[in-house]
Amino acid sequence: MASKINNRSHLQGFSTKAIHHGESFAKDTGTVMPPIFPSSTFAHGNPNGFDYTRSGNPNFKILESVLSSLENCEFASVFASGVSAITAIASSMKTGDLVLCEENLYGCTVRLFEKVFHKFGLRTSWVDFTQPSALNKINTLEPAMIWIESPTNPLLKIINIKKICDTANKKQIPVTVDNTFATALLQQPLDLGATLSLTSTTKYINGHSDALGGAICTRDSEWHERMNFAQKALGLQPSPFDCWLITRGVKTLPLRLDRQVKNASALADLLARHPLVNWVRYPFRSDHPQNNIAKQQMNAGGAIITASLKTDLIKTYAICKSLQYFTMAESLGGVESLVCHPATMTHASVKAETRTHLGIDDSLVRFSVGCEDLTDLSTDLNNALE
Ligand SMILES: *Cc1c(COP(=O)(O)O)cnc(C)c1O
Repeated sequence: MASKINNRSHLQGFSTKAIHHGESFAKDTGTVMPPIFPSSTFAHGNPNGFDYTRSGNPNFKILESVLSSLENCEFASVFASGVSAITAIASSMKTGDLVLCEENLYGCTVRLFEKVFHKFGLRTSWVDFTQPSALNKINTLEPAMIWIESPTNPLLKIINIKKICDTANKKQIPVTVDNTFATALLQQPLDLGATLSLTSTTKYINGHSDALGGAICTRDSEWHERMNFAQKALGLQPSPFDCWLITRGVKTLPLRLDRQVKNASALADLLARHPLVNWVRYPFRSDHPQNNIAKQQMNAGGAIITASLKTDLIKTYAICKSLQYFTMAESLGGVESLVCHPATMTHASVKAETRTHLGIDDSLVRFSVGCEDLTDLSTDLNNALE
């Protein structure tokens, strides 16, 4: 059944693909929801070739069949977290390899490269990929890998994925796109030319803030083998139960994100009109610096809004704390709204000068907009800004 679904997948709509997965591995039961297979080991010689859960499990396969169909590709590998997925790719590089990175990558990606893989001789170079000169670096530095993320965190910079992949593909340099903020519903990195599309399924894909997971999708069978090797060799595998939760969560991704995008675009406009707000960043607003590229490569503007307030650090923090429905917490993408103050939370350990260079000032606030009623969220924001 799995192969039948994947063969047809280009003919199906996104919601259908999110709901229907491949083989359930429980054919004779008629079960509508797949079972959870908590077994650590499997009898030798079983028809599906399972042996030990570190290197594969029916719940991994079920989730992989959904994710590969959503990303229009043959292969997906699932991991214990987004960071495990990043580790899988980084561990397939060798001493001396150079990774050319967007300078505004997710903080834990930066930490992993600089504090862990640097010790093993992996080199990094950081550029602002919104600048045309960054494309020249691909030609002059000839990196072993290019690593981008769009929209970025927390400034929601939009990187032109196709342009970078076109340049990199001419030189056969693989490109990894961290697609966590957009998800396959809003952006298809592999169609734009990327080699690897990485997602922290902890965020929108699961959507209920109750499991951690990561995934890598690709059309390249060699990279797929490397990812499966890393999964078992480094012990990066997820738990069957978390895969089951994420398989359940992804079924409502289109429904959730539809509401979240509607809420976010209305709240972005509300914030932009407010006298206490310096500026608002939202990819589908016409005042976003890369609005044209966003409209080319994304189906919608997403559900994250970043705003700069006309206040100092203490007052910004107090405003975040006073919100009723936006819980002040790290992470994003769940049905419940969250607010993050990067200067005291996600980017607190980043040096002040680096923060300034990246444009992360003390009065910056990032909203992950959830599925609540828009009127309640609007009232909440207006009250907090009073
Ligand atoms: C959260 C996140 C990650 C890491 O994922 P975990 O599941 O928390 O390990 C990687 N990239 C981006 C863009 C993220 O938001």
